[in-house]
Amino acid sequence: MITFLEHRVLEQIDILGEDIVSFLQALIRIPTVNPPGEAYDPCARLIGNWLGELGFDVNYIVARDHADHSSAYPRVNVFGKLSGKMAMPALHLNGHTDVVPAGEGWTVDPFGGEIKDGRVYGRGACDMKGGIAAALFAVAAIREAGIELRGTVEFSGTVDEESGGFAGMAYLAQQGLISPRRTSYVIIPEPLNVDRICLGHRGVYWFQIDTIGHIAHGSMPFLGVNAVELMGRVLNHIDTHLHPALSVRSTDMPVEPPEARRATLNINGIHGGQTQAGVGTPCVADRCTAIFDRRFLKEEPFETVRQEISDILTYLKMRHTDFKAELSDLMVVHPVETDKETDLVQTTARTIRDVLQTSPEYIASPGTYDHKHVFNIGHVDQCIAYGPGLLHLAHQPDEYCEIEHLIQSCKVMALTAMRLLGT
Ligand SMILES: [Zn+2]
Repeated sequence: MITFLEHRVLEQIDILGEDIVSFLQALIRIPTVNPPGEAYDPCARLIGNWLGELGFDVNYIVARDHADHSSAYPRVNVFGKLSGKMAMPALHLNGHTDVVPAGEGWTVDPFGGEIKDGRVYGRGACDMKGGIAAALFAVAAIREAGIELRGTVEFSGTVDEESGGFAGMAYLAQQGLISPRRTSYVIIPEPLNVDRICLGHRGVYWFQIDTIGHIAHGSMPFLGVNAVELMGRVLNHIDTHLHPALSVRSTDMPVEPPEARRATLNINGIHGGQTQAGVGTPCVADRCTAIFDRRFLKEEPFETVRQEISDILTYLKMRHTDFKAELSDLMVVHPVETDKETDLVQTTARTIRDVLQTSPEYIASPGTYDHKHVFNIGHVDQCIAYGPGLLHLAHQPDEYCEIEHLIQSCKVMALTAMRLLGT
């Protein structure tokens, strides 16, 4: 049931339609490419200026002590707060301002923000500048309709999500800006289709294995131990034992696509031996390094996931006296999942039903996004990803966002905000 007040806001969003599109175009035209993290400052200012006009208290939060921050590529986040009559409940809307490089294969200017056939084209159109525009105008429409929210709205545009979010959402959470004391709910408008609510994601374990051999002249390999051959044993064991074991483990989480409901392992890259100008030297390879990306399920405790890898190395050491290897952890992200029965999920679901006249689908993401920092560092347990755009278009050439989806998700976010915070 949509109330009279809510109708006013929906009408306001229809009136604001062209402004939402122009704002998205302006965002796309700022090429916030990561790496290296270009133009973060002007993008933060564009969002900040808008927030200021809407009555938000605006701060620019620069992750100065972060390794990727430099004067050429400053890590500038924007954080706005619109105080309601009460400090709580508080809804935090967050979007990452960075985009991946354009890459090859475009038929339009990736930073032109061109409109064609009811779509806005450009790098970041769906992932996720469309979401930022829709979320901002959800608040704008409530204000334009002359409605004051009882609770508080916060809005952040954060950097570096595409490279882990450590100078962005993680940094805000470390500063205490995302915390149960001030944050009740977080919505991240990532491109997951307007009728789907994303509850969380699988875990990530990035690790490195180094096999250590013994250098010798390439003409007398029997005098050395070849580290590439040692790595071959690791890969062979993964192929014959680990892959089959992982492929039968599945999760209850509704991960999309369904193939990603299994535990997976990817070999990201491998390098062995010495190279000189790209040509191998006449030596027995004394070191080989490989990087692996293990995605684990919420049903798999991390200690077991790590132990399973270290057990492979122990087993190979027992079988072969010349086998020497080291395991190092590069990154660990634990799985996160917001409970379906929470206010945030149920209110968003009801709003999708009312606005779009369809039942929402609950999903989880195969890869991670900033939800991990909201939960693991900020300890806020009600967080979802919900926003315009189609997931499969993210990071592709000719990325676009349907204008209709922008408007629809803006309506859903506006009414969700009103229902969660009260008017
Ligand atoms: Zn994204």
